[in-house]
Amino acid sequence: MGGICDCCLGSNSVQSNPLHDEVPLRNDQFPLSQTSDESATIHLPSLHVSANLGQDSSSERKKIYIITAPHSTCPPSHTSSTGHPCDSEAGSNAELLHKLLDHSLLYRKPLSERAKGDLNRHETWNDPWRVKLRELVQSSTCEGVIDVHGFPPESSQYDYYFISQDPNAEFENFLSRYVYQQCAEVGIYGPEQALKGLENSIMIDALQFKSKVILIEIREGLSDYKKRKLLEALAQGVKKF
Ligand SMILES: [Zn+2]
Repeated sequence: MGGICDCCLGSNSVQSNPLHDEVPLRNDQFPLSQTSDESATIHLPSLHVSANLGQDSSSERKKIYIITAPHSTCPPSHTSSTGHPCDSEAGSNAELLHKLLDHSLLYRKPLSERAKGDLNRHETWNDPWRVKLRELVQSSTCEGVIDVHGFPPESSQYDYYFISQDPNAEFENFLSRYVYQQCAEVGIYGPEQALKGLENSIMIDALQFKSKVILIEIREGLSDYKKRKLLEALAQGVKKF
C-alpha cells in the first residue's frame, strides 16, 4: 500500500466536533437481528433497509444508491485489541453516508460475522445476504452500490482510500479525485486514484448489472469531524457525477 510523504500530512491533531459525536446504529435503519419475514427486506419501509428519498417532492422516480457494509458485524467477544475480525466502524459510517446521500438505501447489516464467511468474496455468492443484495442491485431503480469498509490505523498512512474493481472506472476515478480534492483542504488524506487489484465480489456482481460501484475504506478512529467531512465529500461527488 503506497503512502504519502510526511510533508503532505499536515497536522495530525484530532479534531472533534461535539455536535457530531458517535452516530448510533438505529434498529430501524441498520438492524442487528433478522426478522422472520424475509420478504420484508426489499419493501420499504422495513426492518432491513431504509430509504433516504431526499428533500425534493417531485413525482419523478429517482434511481437509488445502495449502501452496504459487509464486514460490519463483529463477533460477540470483539474488542479493539484482538486484531481486525470486523470493520467495527463501517456500520455507523454507512449509516452516516446514508443520511447524507439523498436517494440512497442502506442495506441490512449481515447476520454473521466475517469469520463465518466473507461477504465480499466469491465464496459467499449463495449466502442469502448476497442473494438479496443482488436482487436489489438488479432492480431497475438501482443506480449504484457504495461498499463501506474500515481498516485499523496501523495498516495504512491514509485516512481513507477507494478500491476500484471496474476496468472502465470512470465513476470511481471521478469520485476518487473529487473526494481527494475536497478532503485535502480540511486535512483528510487519501490517494488521488482508486487502488486496484483486490477482489471485491459485491462490486463484481454489481458491475454485471451495469451498476456503478465504489468501495471506500475508512480509517478506524478517525475523528467524527473528519468522518463527516469525508462522507459529505463522497455524497457530494456521487451527486455531481
Ligand atoms: Zn471490510
